[in-house]
This record gives sequence, structure tokens and C-alpha cells, in this order.
Amino acid sequence: MKNNHLTDETLQAFLLKETQADTVALHLSECKECTTKLEYYHNLIVDITKVAPESFPFEITTIVMDKIMLYEQKKSNKQEFIFWLLLTFILVGISSLSIPFIPKILTVFYSKSIFTTLLIIGTGLIVLLFLFADIYQQYKTKEEKIFKNNLQPIL
Ligand SMILES: [Zn+2]
Repeated sequence: MKNNHLTDETLQAFLLKETQADTVALHLSECKECTTKLEYYHNLIVDITKVAPESFPFEITTIVMDKIMLYEQKKSNKQEFIFWLLLTFILVGISSLSIPFIPKILTVFYSKSIFTTLLIIGTGLIVLLFLFADIYQQYKTKEEKIFKNNLQPIL
């Protein structure tokens, strides 16, 4: 049996668990030369798996996704700018229109009891809280769609 050594192909197949023939295992248990060879192949595969991600930085999926993310970020930055511009414009408009009514509004608050005032403020805060929670949830859903579904490496 010693003269009938295992071929490189058999050793590699055995290492990659493509074959689990008992004859291979038996030969390995008896033959020092083939065991050494198997160890060599094992170390080689370990090294390859360690080095592989670094030696191929031009992974196409990563590049494309980076471009898309950059584009999306630019787009959203522009959209965000327009959104804040509009919001500021609207707020300024509303504020300037409501200036004559401010004293009247304030007298409404002052005339009521402190309980009513607190109730109004509390209701306002809760509505705001729900609004922000909703916005946050929508954001999270989008983020999840992007990262969990589309960014999965295609194998
Ligand atoms: Zn052998």
C-alpha cells in the first residue's frame, strides 16, 4: 500500500470533503508522506481563505454598491436641503402672519387653568412624539430594505 500513494486530486478532494472514502482515511493513517502532503494542502487552503478578501479589492458588488450609496447620499442631501428650505420658508410665513394674533393666543392660555395649559402642551408633545416615531420607523424600514435585501453578497 505504501508504494501506491494518494494522488494530489484525491488528497484535495478528501480535504474539501468531496470524498470520504475509507481507503483514503486508511492510507493516511498508515502513510506519513501523504499525511504531510495533506497538511500542506490544508495550510494552503487556510492561507488562501485568509488572503483572498484582501487580494481582490476590486469586488464588483462592493464597487457598484458604493457608487449607488454615494449617489443616494448626494440625492438625499439635495432633497434634504430643499426640504429644510421649504420648511423654513413656511415657518417664517406662518410666524409673520400670526404675529398680530400672538397676544390673543397668549390670553387664551393665561385665562385657562394651569391644568388646561398642561393638557394642551402634553397633547402637543405626544402628537410630536408619535410623528417622530413614525418618521424613524419609516427610515428604519428603508434602511433595512437596502442593507438586508440588496446588499447581500451574491454567491
Ligand atoms: Zn501515501
